[in-house]
Amino acid sequence: MADTKRLYYEDVYIKEFRGTVTECRKTDKGYRILLDQSAFYPEGGGQPCDLGTLNDIRVTDVQEEEGELIHYTEEPLEAGTEVEGKIDWERRFDLMQQHSGEHMVSGLIHEAYGYNNVGFHMGSDVITIDFSGVLTWEQLEEIEEKVNRKIWENSPVRIFYPSEEELKTLPYRSKKELEGKIRLVEFPGADLCACCGTHVTHTGEIGAVKFLSVENFREGVRVSMISGKRVMDYLKTVNDQNRQISVKLSAKQEETAQAVERLWEENYRLKGRLLNMEQELCRTEAQRWEGEGSVLLFHEGLDADGVRRMADAVMQTCAGCCAVFSRDEDGSYKYAIGEKDGDLRQFVKEMNAALNGRGGGRPFFAQGSVKATEEEIRRFFRQ
Ligand SMILES: [Zn+2]
Repeated sequence: MADTKRLYYEDVYIKEFRGTVTECRKTDKGYRILLDQSAFYPEGGGQPCDLGTLNDIRVTDVQEEEGELIHYTEEPLEAGTEVEGKIDWERRFDLMQQHSGEHMVSGLIHEAYGYNNVGFHMGSDVITIDFSGVLTWEQLEEIEEKVNRKIWENSPVRIFYPSEEELKTLPYRSKKELEGKIRLVEFPGADLCACCGTHVTHTGEIGAVKFLSVENFREGVRVSMISGKRVMDYLKTVNDQNRQISVKLSAKQEETAQAVERLWEENYRLKGRLLNMEQELCRTEAQRWEGEGSVLLFHEGLDADGVRRMADAVMQTCAGCCAVFSRDEDGSYKYAIGEKDGDLRQFVKEMNAALNGRGGGRPFFAQGSVKATEEEIRRFFRQ
């Protein structure tokens, strides 16, 4: 059985390497390929696997199975074949930035609050960490400032395999009981943790860490964060959005939230004025049709509540049935129809059938819409 030499542990920056295929088997997941040495990191320790190519054949998955490093490919590579392996470096480096950032954050939170990282997910856009205790956004902002200062110190990251004796004296973080040789990753002044993943060699390579959100989760919180290039990508997206908002609202970029607040208040006031005007219109119409018997009214620009209020107001005075129609943008009409102490059920049913409509309500009052022209509606009511 071949024991693949793990090149990523010798030098984490190896992007291309040469190796020899020691085994190749067809499986449901594609071809299962073993090499004498490889720089492909298998999924593990919360870190997704590397992708890339072996002699230009796509590597679709890399897993560690029973101690063996398995590359899955779409095409076979016979045993004995010399291969040139290429890692998708942009992806790997991004994962290193996220993983190292996650360690530093977890270490600093552990140090400051004693909480453990109890769940970790490295997604393709954000990474989430679940902590065993509750943190506020303000507390996270302090951690964010601290972690970025530590990053910019650009300290070398230390990776070592302590003896069993030494291990007992070390205050390291580890999610589970580990067996065999323990690999410790130390970010000086920030974290010491058992981990099998690939990490940057100097903290400065992480670039920056940004928290995006915090929400309560189980006994603690779920924090989402990004590191490295993802911070720049995020900044670009958010900045583009804010620039557009700023132009649309004629507000400085630092003041868009206040501008939205003002817009919201203005909208609230306008709605109030509109409501007053509608009520005034309802009163006027109610007076105008007083004692006139059944009336059919068309009014532009009323919403569903508006037609309801209008029909309700006029039916109180007209001594008959009142129907109010208001045209929608798509050409259909919404309606409200009512008659004090009346029973309009049969009438509404016939109207809906004749005018391609829908709706209903109580015996003396109904609401709905019809797909018909004003002329067709008037003709129906004349009959
Ligand atoms: Zn780790």
